[in-house]
Amino acid sequence: MAQPLKDKIAAVTGGASGIGLECVRHLLDNGAEVYIIDFDAKAAEARAAELGDKAHALIADLTKYEDIEKAVHTIVKNHGRIDIFHANAGSYVADMPWEGDTKRWDRMLDLNINAAFRCVRAVAPQMMEQKSGDIVITSSISGMVPMVSEPVYTASKHAVQAFVHTARRKLAAYDVRISAIQPGPVVTPLLKDWDQERVKANLESGGIMQPVEVAEALIFMLTRRKGVIVRDLVILPQNFDV
Ligand code: NAD
Repeated sequence: MAQPLKDKIAAVTGGASGIGLECVRHLLDNGAEVYIIDFDAKAAEARAAELGDKAHALIADLTKYEDIEKAVHTIVKNHGRIDIFHANAGSYVADMPWEGDTKRWDRMLDLNINAAFRCVRAVAPQMMEQKSGDIVITSSISGMVPMVSEPVYTASKHAVQAFVHTARRKLAAYDVRISAIQPGPVVTPLLKDWDQERVKANLESGGIMQPVEVAEALIFMLTRRKGVIVRDLVILPQNFDV
């Protein structure tokens, strides 16, 4: 198999599960050495052990600046650089913001947008110094289309898009690329908060896809020629109703 990312040093947050895990597998298959960054130590270490010598686990809680900074520091100490950073971890709630526990709104924004910012803040200075690097943030179709049934999630992913677009030109001056990937529904543990009838109906109608679709899109984004960027990549199951 061709290995366009041979010897690249990569990190994937939320790499112990779902979309992140499939992205880790694809990065490895394409030749990269990959760090799974996750707060689920047991899962991260088990997945890294299964995936072989080029996969590693770093335990970090992305709600803490110091954890993510420490993880980036470890990678740079080990390799002298970091080529690919996939800020992928996120969570989902379908609550209306005026219903339920008020902390759910804060937690959602903290993980989906603030943690993406923490990751960029930790990794961008190193990439700017190197004058190379790719940062990809997992957003969502909800970052493009307001989903009325999931206002908190939609707000968090719209914020991700705005952040990526405002950071892009600044980082371009240092040959660092930043872009967002915007999947529609994917079968992962994240959808536990979905109405399970909705999951079932989407599975039957082909309105939901597998993580591999997102991982292949990620590799496409990362293998564009220098100076070219896939700014936003929306990837949807053909029968998803938006
Ligand atoms: P998942 O629940 O399968 O995986 C999330 C991973 O993030 C887990 O390994 C979890 O341990 C880790 N994580 C959560 N909070 C963390 C924290 N504070 N610190 C460190 N790690 C943490 O979810 P997924 O479906 O693979 O989602 C990944 C990304 O894709 C998210 O940003 C999500 O919003 C986005 N997304 C998912 C879907 C979908 O339908 N599944 C669709 C569009 C976008």
